[in-house]
Amino acid sequence: AQTQLVQSEKMVSLGQLVAGIAHEINNPIGAIYANMPPLEEYIDDIKGTVEFAQSCMDEPGAEKLNTHMEQIDYTFVTEDLAKLLGSQKQAADRIRNIVLALRNFSRLDQGEVKTVRLEEGLDSTLQMLHHTYKDRITIEKDYALNEMVECYAGELNQVFMNILANAIQAIPDKGGIFITTAKVNDQAVISIADTGIGMPEEVRKKIFDPFFTTKEVGEGTGLGLSISYGIIEKHHGALTVESELNRGTRFIIAIPLRLIKDA
Ligand code: ADP
Ligand code: MG
Repeated sequence: AQTQLVQSEKMVSLGQLVAGIAHEINNPIGAIYANMPPLEEYIDDIKGTVEFAQSCMDEPGAEKLNTHMEQIDYTFVTEDLAKLLGSQKQAADRIRNIVLALRNFSRLDQGEVKTVRLEEGLDSTLQMLHHTYKDRITIEKDYALNEMVECYAGELNQVFMNILANAIQAIPDKGGIFITTAKVNDQAVISIADTGIGMPEEVRKKIFDPFFTTKEVGEGTGLGLSISYGIIEKHHGALTVESELNRGTRFIIAIPLRLIKDA
């Protein structure tokens, strides 16, 4: 019990740390966004001035103007500058989304009951994993649940993280991941399917066992799915898997829309 207490205190302070970092990043990001419109306007002005100066270059007495204009890189001023600013904005958008995802995760303390859209948890998780799949895996989503779900939201996010990270790791090169949500008989059902390496029967039988892993030392702990299984059990739900070797794997999570409290 002693070590467990220490462990849960650690979790809380990690959550607070992440929330603090997210907050700190938000301020400079705000400044970057605030600077964007005046910069855009200024670039527009410069572009106008340069274009006007260009149109004057053939006028009599424009020699002095010409020597100045020769030093100006026209494509830089009229095109590249705006493009650069555009990609700055994209980068800022990306940071803002990561911060949003971090916040989504950190504000959900372990053991806390919340009523949430599970799709938000799935999207935040994808956002956090984005750098591990962006160039090689296409994600297709069909979100049809359209219901809020009462659950241990922070813990469900851990389940999404484990299953999605496994799916990404199971795709050696290019492939796809298909995520669907639906309501079936007052249950929220989430399916996560990948076009990865799949599993032979003898592996599939053991994946929920603690410390079972087929990954190299340091790459896998073998804990993800056993922890996930426990979390779904706590929701009185079901976590099932279908897999075909060299074709892919599908995990199906089903939980009641309202939490069933243990007696
Ligand atoms: P870890 O990822 O640390 O190995 P997990 O409990 O998350 O531990 O998974 C256990 C094992 O289940 C993995 O090592 C792998 O062999 C298998 N597995 C899990 N998800 C998939 C998947 N999507 N495709 C193929 N194998 C998988
Ligand atoms: Mg794992």
